Amino acid sequence: MKIGFVGLGNMGAPMARNLAAAGHAVTGFDLTAPVPEGVTGAASAAEAAAGAEVVITMLPNGAILRSVAAELIPAMAPGAVLLDCSTVDVESARAVAAQAEAAGLGALDAPVSGGTGGAEAGTLTFMVGGSDAAFATARPLFDIMGQKAVHCGGAGNGQAAKICNNMILGVTMVATCEGFALADKLGLDRQALFDVVSTSSGYSWSMNVYCPAPGIGPESPADRDYAPGFAAELMLKDLRLSQQAAEAVDADTPTGATATALFETFVETEGMGKKDFTAILPRFAAKGRA
Ligand code: NAD
Repeated sequence: MKIGFVGLGNMGAPMARNLAAAGHAVTGFDLTAPVPEGVTGAASAAEAAAGAEVVITMLPNGAILRSVAAELIPAMAPGAVLLDCSTVDVESARAVAAQAEAAGLGALDAPVSGGTGGAEAGTLTFMVGGSDAAFATARPLFDIMGQKAVHCGGAGNGQAAKICNNMILGVTMVATCEGFALADKLGLDRQALFDVVSTSSGYSWSMNVYCPAPGIGPESPADRDYAPGFAAELMLKDLRLSQQAAEAVDADTPTGATATALFETFVETEGMGKKDFTAILPRFAAKGRA
């Protein structure tokens, strides 16, 4: 398949490389990042899109996606599919899809989970919004870049699934860290708390798989001095998107709002954005009751 790829950063570069290694003809463009091995460089986003059956974008945010899409859509071949894998606001995803469809193109929003490790290994999970026909076209590419693609419904529903998932993750991680901090002060050993909670009704991915306490549970960023993993600034981005979406549709998300405020302080006031988001545990452990 002939593929255009715009946004060759930490995620986009390994995804484009995997598609090229699987035998696809990938033409890529990025404002600053180098073109990865096996990918042909283009001088602009429009040039990368010309003649491609699928054009993939992996960009920082919704505003950038909208401006890049305005350049891509007129340059794309009729019937081609615009496949956005960035994490952006639901509104931008739906606006871009409507523009692409009005121009006779297919459109999918397909944000990912799995991080840079998953992008390198080709084991990402895609959460996909858009038509059945566009999903069928992109399916073989999801199979190369990832291990799972869930079709969540129409345009924007991939982004909706992503931000709901990550809001749940942010909230459960905060709750797990609070549990450890409270246990410390009650004189309850962290390993004992893990042994109980990980097999009791308080269990979660945050406790069982990605435990924020060093030396406890399976290996996680806590065991590497909180090197990411999933950086706190990216968690803050996703929590903010959840609150933007909740505001837009008048949804009540009080613990999501609290988690957002906590990560705002952690990232913006305390400068911890580059650390893994689980580094919020030592912060809780060091603090007293506000
Ligand atoms: P990144 O900043 O490394 O890459 C983004 C790339 O887009 C950069 O190389 C930048 O130069 C390029 N870019 C910006 N504007 C452009 C333009 N107008 N034209 C062409 N290129 C342009 O970010 P990333 O870590 O690769 O993340 C990309 C997306 O994936 C984000 O939406 C992020 O939220 C999401 N995501 C990231 C992770 C992760 O662990 N890094 C995990 C899941 C989802």
